[in-house]
Amino acid sequence: MKEQGEDVISLSVGEPDFNTPENIRKAAFEAMESGKIGYTPASGLVQLKKTICEKLAKDNHLEYDVKNIVVSNGAKHSLFNSLQAICNPGDEVIVGVPYWVSYPNLIEMSDAIPVYVEMKECDGFKFTKTALENALTEKTKAIIINSPNNPTGTVFTKEDLQVIADFAVKNDLYVISDEIYEKLIYEGEHTSIASLGDKIKELTIVVNGMSKCYAMTGWRIGYSASSEKIASIMSNIQSHATSNPNTIAQYASIEGLKGPQDSVETMRKCFEERKNYIVKAINSIDGLSCRNPEGAFYVMVNIQNFTGKHYKEKQINNSFDFSEALLENEKVAVIPGIGFGQDGYIRLSYAASIEMIQKGIERIKKFVDYLN
Ligand code: PLP
Repeated sequence: MKEQGEDVISLSVGEPDFNTPENIRKAAFEAMESGKIGYTPASGLVQLKKTICEKLAKDNHLEYDVKNIVVSNGAKHSLFNSLQAICNPGDEVIVGVPYWVSYPNLIEMSDAIPVYVEMKECDGFKFTKTALENALTEKTKAIIINSPNNPTGTVFTKEDLQVIADFAVKNDLYVISDEIYEKLIYEGEHTSIASLGDKIKELTIVVNGMSKCYAMTGWRIGYSASSEKIASIMSNIQSHATSNPNTIAQYASIEGLKGPQDSVETMRKCFEERKNYIVKAINSIDGLSCRNPEGAFYVMVNIQNFTGKHYKEKQINNSFDFSEALLENEKVAVIPGIGFGQDGYIRLSYAASIEMIQKGIERIKKFVDYLN
């Protein structure tokens, strides 16, 4: 629609609307200029792995050696490698609903089966102990967790994570902990589940990367920290599938993790201002509501009051109908909750300028006022 000249406002994107910080861009340039353009070890530069170990020790109280680290082509690739490394055909992997869209597909690509556990809005979009226990079978191999969460923005507290850790340790399950939004937190703090004890650390594959917190989505650098055994399997898979991730981006990532962190804080503050605006604005629209998310750059908006209503001739039966009618009539792009496994919601991203957000919200209000 945009290409056809339509004035579409997108509140759907999953990437920061900032350029990569200058010191990181410069480091990439310097790497190229000094000829650091060849292959690196398949699982990543030792120098970058050391930097990642320092970061994990400093930020997450986690002691790892370079042998535990695999650097990949983005966090998604680290998730892929993790699942390929641990799953046998028919294994079950527990996923919270709403989930990040790729989890079910990544699980299925490893011949395993996603088992869905609802994380209800009334529980703050978190797992409950009972729901986890009900999902357990003798085939359960792992659980994927994501905090700060996409799409809900929920951040799991230490207590929430302890429940998951106890469940995993008791039943000998791997935990894949996707921490890609780690530094985008507005309330509370980030805890890595692996830091809760030696047993859970051994079972956890920590996944993180440069995309979201350093505005480096296109650079494609992610990493994992796990037991040496799992890291070595992941490294073998990666070696034969893709070889090393982009060398220049690896050098730039060293600067990203080691260099000044003030640009991360500037971006975080900017996201926080937008979040405060969007949450207030949504909750002031009759019939819409959303909880105040603690992290990431998304809000899940409850649209259940509008199920069965009509926009002109069209009946709104689900989140897809709602999103489609909103796009066609008011030119605002959002993601239907059904894409995250949870109908009755739409996801708004506030990785957009405040002007765009304001305009988008005005149009959403107009759309909703028209529904009857
Ligand atoms: N995990 C979550 C929860 C995400 O939202 C995303 C990107 O949208 C990723 C992983 C993938 O990150 P990367 O760009 O590093 O592959």
